[in-house]
Amino acid sequence: MRAPSLPRPVLCRPRLAALLLAALLAPSLPAEADTVVPGAAHAFDYRLQPRRITDGVYVLIGRTEDFDTRNGGNIVNTGFLVGSSGVVVIDSGPSRRYGEQLRAAIAAVTPLPVVLTLNTHAHPDHFLGNQAFPAGTLAALPATRDAIAREGEDLSANLYRLAGDWMRGTEARPPGRSLAPGRLHAGGRELELIALDGHTGADLLVLDRASGTLFAGDLVFHDRAPTTPHADLDHWLAALERIATLDGVRQVVPGHGEVASGTGLQTPLRQTQAWLRWLQQRLDTSAAQGLETNEVLALPLAAEFATIAEAATEYRRSVLRLYPQTEHKALQQHGAR
Ligand SMILES: [Zn+2]
Repeated sequence: MRAPSLPRPVLCRPRLAALLLAALLAPSLPAEADTVVPGAAHAFDYRLQPRRITDGVYVLIGRTEDFDTRNGGNIVNTGFLVGSSGVVVIDSGPSRRYGEQLRAAIAAVTPLPVVLTLNTHAHPDHFLGNQAFPAGTLAALPATRDAIAREGEDLSANLYRLAGDWMRGTEARPPGRSLAPGRLHAGGRELELIALDGHTGADLLVLDRASGTLFAGDLVFHDRAPTTPHADLDHWLAALERIATLDGVRQVVPGHGEVASGTGLQTPLRQTQAWLRWLQQRLDTSAAQGLETNEVLALPLAAEFATIAEAATEYRRSVLRLYPQTEHKALQQHGAR
């Protein structure tokens, strides 16, 4: 039997206008909207759980992934040191939300105020939580401050593109205070600040003297392939040599990946060295053989990196960024002969 034809619903103009307005005002959902419910109590919750690794030293270990709308950019390690009179924060995370949630997590551990917020280097996952901390506590190496002031907004925009609504309200906030290498007393903790470079133009390491904890920033990766968007491989390898000579290090907190200590203390350092040496050799050999970029990309990864997270992705990125200059150098050397 044929169903009676029903009159088509007519959308009157005011209702249409209201629907359009609602659509415009609705939050744009992240791609994995089923895992994040905007408006719900758990929405955009990084579920930060500070882990106490020794007396007064806490770390928050991010995922060894690339930025996406599920992890909200929480692929980075941050940490904080609780002293007798205050708290020192090492890196503020990838977004304003992360910074705010980190601050709340610190407040759940201690009532002491944050007296110093350090950015180890000018990559967005390490400084975009700065808004959550008092402006007077923000500090970094001079070149890091300059880089955040110069490129911070572009880096922030890129993270918006990758992590979506987790980033809402986030703006780059360059630290107002410059750090110099050497001893620094803050919040009742004695720190050794070490200024190196190679991952970026300025990379800060923080050694907490009492515990022997080295916060190595992104000069050291653990079970995660190093990123090279601002890297100078020669400088980076020289920095790793220097780190290997530091006295009094009992545990290492890498910029990405698990904390290392005991018999595994040197593992992240060796992994990062091995990757960078292999990458440099691969680029040099390929340029000497006159390979095209696509041919270099098609070469297999070394077997030793099979278990390193994001190895294929970072290899591709590194080749695309570094191979043109390697080719250029090889051509110049060839012409000079
Ligand atoms: Zn970095």
